[in-house]
Amino acid sequence: MTNHDEDTSAQDRLPEESTPSSATPNVASQCEFFGQHCRPYCPPVLVSACLLGIPCRWHGRRPEMRARLIESLKRRHVLVPVCPEQLGGMPTPRTSETLSGGSGAEVLDDGARIIAPETGEDVTDFYLKGSAFTLEIARIVGAKKAYLKGGSPACDKEGVTGETLRRAGIEVITVS
Ligand code: SF4
Repeated sequence: MTNHDEDTSAQDRLPEESTPSSATPNVASQCEFFGQHCRPYCPPVLVSACLLGIPCRWHGRRPEMRARLIESLKRRHVLVPVCPEQLGGMPTPRTSETLSGGSGAEVLDDGARIIAPETGEDVTDFYLKGSAFTLEIARIVGAKKAYLKGGSPACDKEGVTGETLRRAGIEVITVS
């Protein structure tokens, strides 16, 4: 694990899913209630809220929205924004934890702790709560896939929430 959910200059990309225009759903089917304008079923996916430009990052500033990624996902999915750190009860702005070479699995299995670098506070419980609530949301909406911000001690595939979701059978795609 490297830096806490830092912005990167990398282009928006879908690491494990291409974005062909042919993936756009066919909107031809007639809906019993709303007629032909009804949208076809698009499976829900969780998305790290900061990838949508929501100012939920630790520093509180508005991050750049990953426009290409979001436009591509919106053609095929209903997007469900989540910020595990906020869901766990952390304020914004907040401290800037890292896993310091560790992993979410070590937190979940081995009692590894996450310590706020600025204050020395043990903030592990916020991360565990945020993971649990994120999984709860995934189950409520029926999401089987999550596009999560890489490099975050919560959202990275190896982070606490990423690991929690993967253990529950949800595919986690890291967005760099
Ligand atoms: Fe973004 Fe996830 Fe960090 Fe929230 S916890 S700011 S969604 S990377």
